Amino acid sequence: TNTPRYLTGDQAGLREFLDKFDVFLFDCDGVLWSGDHCFPGTVETLELLRKNGKQVVFVTNNSTKSRADYRKKLEGLGIPSSVEEIFSSSYSSSIYISRILQLPENKRKVYVIGESGIEQELRSENVPFIGGTDPAYRRDVQPEDYKRIAAGDTSLLDPEVGVVLVGLDFHLNYLKLALAYHYVKRGAIFLATNIDSTLPNSGTLFPGAGSMSAPLIMMLGQDPVALGKPSQAMMDAIEGKFKFDRSRACMVGDRANTDIRFGLEGNLGGTLGVLTGVSSKEDFVSGPVRPLAYLDKLSDLLAAEQ
Ligand code: PLP
Ligand code: CA
Repeated sequence: TNTPRYLTGDQAGLREFLDKFDVFLFDCDGVLWSGDHCFPGTVETLELLRKNGKQVVFVTNNSTKSRADYRKKLEGLGIPSSVEEIFSSSYSSSIYISRILQLPENKRKVYVIGESGIEQELRSENVPFIGGTDPAYRRDVQPEDYKRIAAGDTSLLDPEVGVVLVGLDFHLNYLKLALAYHYVKRGAIFLATNIDSTLPNSGTLFPGAGSMSAPLIMMLGQDPVALGKPSQAMMDAIEGKFKFDRSRACMVGDRANTDIRFGLEGNLGGTLGVLTGVSSKEDFVSGPVRPLAYLDKLSDLLAAEQ
């Protein structure tokens, strides 16, 4: 394990670091912004990189939004982007289902635990789905339901479901978990958009997508295939689109066990930690997963050109 280089205020070190890479993969929340607050200097830093001919890619584990939602969010913060530059876990999950999984014709439906971002990306890949934001699933389990599930009632358990996809769902309930459990028991493939245990909001942490699949892991004794960072399925999807030289790419992130691990396991040339999100200086400097370098904040990169 290396000792990460601290680059804040080190102009020569920053220049040398930037020169090593052609592609920068950016985690979003905790690096570019926090919630609805764009960090000062984010826009200028991305402009600087683009001006220097760097390819910029936005890689987020947030499954609640689609790529189109993200492009709008970026635009609202003053960051120009195209949908093509954005990889969300909702998108990586959808292309994994439509392009990698070879589902039989009668098992192509996805049972979704999650929000509209997943639904939009599944729709754009022509993948049929049920569940998700459908209000019919936002109810208590009735005594009848147990009998219907036990009997395999096809109005409650769709026989065409071949995949269960679990992302962050703000209306998770007992019915949704019970149905997901029975679909997997009946042979459906168990996927998770990402397995972040928590997500930051308003300066503290709340349950993340991983906490939605945790009860299912408990029930099933089986882990899902997870598609967000640090899963290399996400990296392969990005590479499939951009055909970049991994040795000339750098992953920038705030979370050691997702972002930095994602870059290290993907054999990228570099990883850059920032201290504006979840991981602390101690995590980066003495934790089990360490970046090549770290900064107090992303906009410290601007000093490379001053
Ligand atoms: N999942 C959800 C639902 C979120 O709201 C966020 C942050 O906004 C994340 C995951 C983490 O996103 P990122 O990978 O951009 O840090
Ligand atoms: Ca983050």
